[in-house]
Amino acid sequence: DTIGANLDRAVAAWPDREALVDVPSGRRWTYAEFGATVEELAQALAASGVTKGDRVGIWAVNCPEWVLVQYATARIGAIMVNINPAYRTHEVEYVLQQSGVSLLFASLAHKTSDYRAMAEEVRHRCPTLREVVYFGDPSWEALLGRAVPDTRYAELSCDDPINIQYTSGTTGFPKGATLSHHNILNNGYFVGELIAYSEQDRICIPVPFYHCFGMVMGNLAATSHGACMVIPAPSFDPAATLDAVQRERCTSLYGVPTMFIAELNLPDFASYDLSTLRTGIMAGSPCPVEVMKRVVAEMHMEQVSICYGMTETSPVSLQTRIEDDLEHRTATVGRVLPHLEVKVVDPATGVTRPRGTAGELCTRGYSVMLGYWNEPGKTAEAIDAGRWMHTGDLAVMREDGYVEIVGRIKDMIIRGGENVYPREIEEFLHAHPKIRDVQVVGVPHERYGEEVLACVIPRDPADPLTLEELRAYCEGRLAHYKIPSRLQILDAFPMTVSGKVRKVELREQYAAD
Ligand code: ATP
Ligand code: MG
Repeated sequence: DTIGANLDRAVAAWPDREALVDVPSGRRWTYAEFGATVEELAQALAASGVTKGDRVGIWAVNCPEWVLVQYATARIGAIMVNINPAYRTHEVEYVLQQSGVSLLFASLAHKTSDYRAMAEEVRHRCPTLREVVYFGDPSWEALLGRAVPDTRYAELSCDDPINIQYTSGTTGFPKGATLSHHNILNNGYFVGELIAYSEQDRICIPVPFYHCFGMVMGNLAATSHGACMVIPAPSFDPAATLDAVQRERCTSLYGVPTMFIAELNLPDFASYDLSTLRTGIMAGSPCPVEVMKRVVAEMHMEQVSICYGMTETSPVSLQTRIEDDLEHRTATVGRVLPHLEVKVVDPATGVTRPRGTAGELCTRGYSVMLGYWNEPGKTAEAIDAGRWMHTGDLAVMREDGYVEIVGRIKDMIIRGGENVYPREIEEFLHAHPKIRDVQVVGVPHERYGEEVLACVIPRDPADPLTLEELRAYCEGRLAHYKIPSRLQILDAFPMTVSGKVRKVELREQYAAD
């Protein structure tokens, strides 16, 4: 199916159910209203000269218009280009030029970002860019005013490219993954299926739409099961998120682990009524066991699911099932999704490794991207001749098919010839009473090649952990080569907009002491 055809089916099946709620503005759409507004916007785009295969950029924080643009571009077969709302002029110019965007949608402004000023500055340097439309601005109304009823669009195929999504940029410069209807619609459908979504569900989405977590696992999962998308705030705000869950009686909540940590640490956490929550998705980076326990017990998310994926695979390839026990939900990222294949190989030889041993995780199936946009060389490095996507992550497959993520190949620390996996040490340190959050990275060391640095956000900044305390805590419980030899106390970690810690920055910043 195409995304447009799938939405038509939802509109026909659940016309009066709510499809979309924007908590900050109080605006809401039923499926019938949502379908009609998407159609009007698609007509307006067609009247503005946008046709199949044209690139339409979207550079905005979360808002209902984001979702409308997602479905309207899909309906006419235009390729939506998701642009990171954290980008500034230099980066946005690169993306607009690299992907040849002809029409750009943008937020007016949010917090310290004046999107209009930045877009006006770069638009003249982007030869393909004909028009910029701002949300909440007369240019949006003017665009909608061009809609012509009963517009006929080009014939679409579900293998057409529909979306260019950039990776988070956790390990370096983001790469633009080109995805088809088939890639992302199926992925959204199955992710929703595995957490038993129905038209009864209301999903609180505090993760950015610009990233696949929001627009696929959120929006496409919702509309393929008749569930409602709830937008708590334009960008992540822990209090607004819990307030939206309570106010809109949400049954599902999304986040990366750091978002759940921020919510659980709100001083008035206990005052929110979260009893309507049933499920949710935690993904994007490893989840500490302590956090998962509190999410299940104190946020009532008994059926919370862990997903593992990457932008290049639409994104999800592994997911825990709602009946899985806590051990599987914390130590593993689940098992393979229906109709996909995963394997663990020796990164050097490509030979499949036996179960229980670590190697590079590879994925194959409908979810693998068409390629990196205009980067055939990088595509060939990532996807091999057998159509396997090489993830760059180290994993172990258990006997029962559940997969443990050991860490990124790039993050692994080699100290004096011993392989050290940051995740294991982070997990261990998380239980320390003086530690709120911790990241472990390898930094250069003359004698050992690399040494282990722990970057800690203390629970009480007035009484931070000392290196002696840290080492004493680990002594006798961790092998000596895993015990951090350096400690850095921080207020916050450098993050991507999708909520991941940029270890690469920590490594660079603290390379020398
Ligand atoms: P870039 O590729 O630009 O460096 P990125 O890899 O973080 O950034 P994404 O596509 O957003 O960009 O994220 C995919 C990566 O996130 C995976 O390769 C994996 O390392 C990590 N990841 C995703 N889900 C999980 C999870 N549940 N547990 C651990 N790691 C995860
Ligand atoms: Mg990546």
